[in-house]
Amino acid sequence: MPQSLPEPEFDQLYRELILDHYRNPRHREPLAKPDVVAEGYNPLCGDEVEIRLSFDNGTVSDLSVDGRGCSISQASGSMLTDLVIGKRADEVRSLSGLFTKMMTDPEGEPPEELGDLEAFQGVAKFPVRVKCATLAWHTLEDGIQQHDEGGHTARHEE
Ligand code: ZN
Repeated sequence: MPQSLPEPEFDQLYRELILDHYRNPRHREPLAKPDVVAEGYNPLCGDEVEIRLSFDNGTVSDLSVDGRGCSISQASGSMLTDLVIGKRADEVRSLSGLFTKMMTDPEGEPPEELGDLEAFQGVAKFPVRVKCATLAWHTLEDGIQQHDEGGHTARHEE
């Protein structure tokens, strides 16, 4: 990570949660036969994610999130997996919208729907790091849009 980017400080509980997901990312093993592969890149920090999605009747039936980069970007990608699997595409868009909005509002009440992802609200105080937290969400949204349009690959730059 470039040294110029500030390092947000988290409450102890959130810090442990983020580090746990960073060190032991969930659903990281790439899906073998995804419907869509979406790649995301955040040049500001050098973060990369690859999200593979499977759909069943408009529902995200499975996904994997692989990548490399800072703990915020990778933990965010890991943490969204369990929230998103089984949700309809429009529900995922709505969650992504809530997350993105939370990242512009460091003082607001974090939306209940986001569960543990409220851990990232502290990043909102560091605008140059917000893209680290939103990279996986926005890459996921691009992947869903590609699927809606009949495509199989997406590239997102944060
Ligand atoms: Zn980052």
